[in-house]
Amino acid sequence: MPKKGNVVLFDVRTVMFMTAAATGMLALCLAITLGRHGASIGRAAKVWANATALQSLAWCAFSQRDLIPDLFSVLAGNLMICLAYAEYPRALRIFHGDTSTWPTPRGIAVSVVVPVVFYTWINPDVALRAVTSSAVVMVLLLIAARETVRTAPRPWPTSHLLALAVFSGGALLLLVRMVFEVSSTRPLTSGMASTPMQIVTFSYLSLVPIIATLGFVLMCSEHANAELEKLATTDSLTGTLNRRKLELLAGEQINIARQRGHQVSLLLLDADRFKTINDLHGHEVGDFALKNMVACARQHLRPGDLIGRFGGEEFLVLLINTASSEAAQIAERLRAAVAALDLHVRGKSLCLSISVGVATLGEHGHDFQELVRRADRAMYLAKHRGRNRVVTGTPEWT
Ligand code: GH3
Ligand code: MG
Ligand code: MG
Repeated sequence: MPKKGNVVLFDVRTVMFMTAAATGMLALCLAITLGRHGASIGRAAKVWANATALQSLAWCAFSQRDLIPDLFSVLAGNLMICLAYAEYPRALRIFHGDTSTWPTPRGIAVSVVVPVVFYTWINPDVALRAVTSSAVVMVLLLIAARETVRTAPRPWPTSHLLALAVFSGGALLLLVRMVFEVSSTRPLTSGMASTPMQIVTFSYLSLVPIIATLGFVLMCSEHANAELEKLATTDSLTGTLNRRKLELLAGEQINIARQRGHQVSLLLLDADRFKTINDLHGHEVGDFALKNMVACARQHLRPGDLIGRFGGEEFLVLLINTASSEAAQIAERLRAAVAALDLHVRGKSLCLSISVGVATLGEHGHDFQELVRRADRAMYLAKHRGRNRVVTGTPEWT
């Protein structure tokens, strides 16, 4: 090991032992905290905690090399580190909601036994053992990197970037190590030798489980934030935007449209005689009718259109870059589609229709509230004229 006078600058065994302790603590923390989560986060956290615990056991075994039999410090150590690396891509898949069995990474991990046994007991060669076991870990790191890419949401969050950097960096380093050891004129004679290559490899590999786990914890936090954001912005019954979010997005879209001189139209949809549906069939059936009504409306909207629940059985649809005549055509399409819905409950057919008010904000229009007021007046006129119809408001209705 490198020494300056009597001072040891780097001790591989100490690094291994410290890594065993740190990863052991991490595994425990993961299992206790994130492992308690329900659904995919909890299941993925358990697999990740297993990987971290295996890392801890492997580093513990490595740190005892030459002090305990090779069976444990070499064979069990290498097998456990490979099994640990096989768990990361599995955890990523589970986190992503894929619960299908995936034996490939574990199969590759177990294959490390063959070269380790061969180069330890049959034809002892420390350098070739290091090269072959590095090759197995490298393949597993590449699988983990690939799985990180595959499961990353777009745009890439910090968590996935961190995991990708640490996994692909590890694979690259092991490739360099393999080339170095194969071409070296002074082959490795001991797994505990503190050569520069050994120091760089073990330092990096000791950081992989810690930094990758930081990436995983960030993934969980980003996922939880996204779930909360969804809960705070969507209507739980119909899955449309809630009123708060719709008002926010509509305000933004109207500002953009005004700057670009585009027209924006708003539809206010109100289910006709909906109270009667509830009174005749019960609230559950009313909910079923509302869900179907919204699903049907969504099918007839364009990708950029926004639909949100205004309140009760009233929904708003914001049509970007849409003139009054086109908005009226879309409204008519929605009305006809809802009226044509063939809904049955307990053998009885449900009559569902909507009245729609249309309003368009031109170049000189003001804001969202003005649009809502005009669409509301138009919708009430549609009710007054007999329901199941579309009425277009005019700019004079402010
Ligand atoms: P109109 O044609 O004039 O709009 O008549 P309407 O019966 O639809 O209007 P009214 O405002 O009298 O009643 C609306 C009803 O919609 C009352 C309310 O119980 C029902 N409603 C609102 N939100 C929901 C919901 O989420 N689920 C169910 N089942 N009913 C709802
Ligand atoms: Mg209403
Ligand atoms: Mg109604």
